[in-house]
Amino acid sequence: METVLVGIDLGGTNAQGAAALDGKIIRQEKIPTRSQLGAEAVLDDLARLALELAGGRKIAALGLGVPGLLDLERGLCVFSGNLGWDNVPVKAKLEEKTGAPVFMDNDVRVAAAGELARGLAQGCKDFIYLTVGTGIGSGIFIDGHLLRGPRWSAGEVGHMVLDPQGPDCTCGSKGCLEALASATAIAREGRAAAAANPDSILNTLAADPRDIDAALVFEAAAAGDAVAARVVETAMTWLGIGVANLVNIFNPRLVVIGGGVSLAGERLLAPVRTQVERYSMPVQRETVSIRTSALGDAAGVAGALELARRGLEG
Ligand SMILES: [Zn+2]
Repeated sequence: METVLVGIDLGGTNAQGAAALDGKIIRQEKIPTRSQLGAEAVLDDLARLALELAGGRKIAALGLGVPGLLDLERGLCVFSGNLGWDNVPVKAKLEEKTGAPVFMDNDVRVAAAGELARGLAQGCKDFIYLTVGTGIGSGIFIDGHLLRGPRWSAGEVGHMVLDPQGPDCTCGSKGCLEALASATAIAREGRAAAAANPDSILNTLAADPRDIDAALVFEAAAAGDAVAARVVETAMTWLGIGVANLVNIFNPRLVVIGGGVSLAGERLLAPVRTQVERYSMPVQRETVSIRTSALGDAAGVAGALELARRGLEG
């Protein structure tokens, strides 16, 4: 009987999946994540999605990216703020519901594996994947190995403190990179800037000030609004300082920036490269290349398929 690999990238809003046969994607699908119904319902939805993607074929392995803190030894999602999960036995439940072996990892680390397998990082051994969206996270590969740590949570670069007097962070600290440069931070600063500058087109683009999100701030900046451009520039400068620190510490050959904010392209890259020039050591900056992801949000599914493939190989 023909077997397929299934990869699913579970996000707070959607779950995206694909089935691959002989290394080629044969089917893709996206479903809403109904986290408000509880973990059991979400896992039922994921199992149904996996079986649908397989289309009657046997699933040889299921790879899954989960947005949260995981215990990979016990197959648990210890905590996920996005999903509202505490100690959910994801692996055991999904194996029971699908009859397939399940291999899971943190969503950002999975997307990093996707960049290595299919994206700009192919063949690169010293590589940092940074996702800049609602939050900021990373997957750090040195000498071809992903840094994990004893609790599988190495790479939480979003909580690198850059400004101790800065804004509050979701982690309880202050002035973390995530609190200064994420989409959430850009939206917060955009709303404040709009209120302080009645002439900014932020106030005309948004029907209600509460509708100002990061995408709208980028849109206003692209349209030539100086107030919005300053918000973007400030956030991307912080991001650049964060990247410069990472470059100094890890000496990567490549930094790939993904996540929603990476769609800003050059508007993100120019200030980031400026700060890396300014704050990283010459020996490090000479070897590093900084790019935005070419895979975009497909990196998660590509990585989940890769996780399934590697899981099978043991
Ligand atoms: Zn933090």
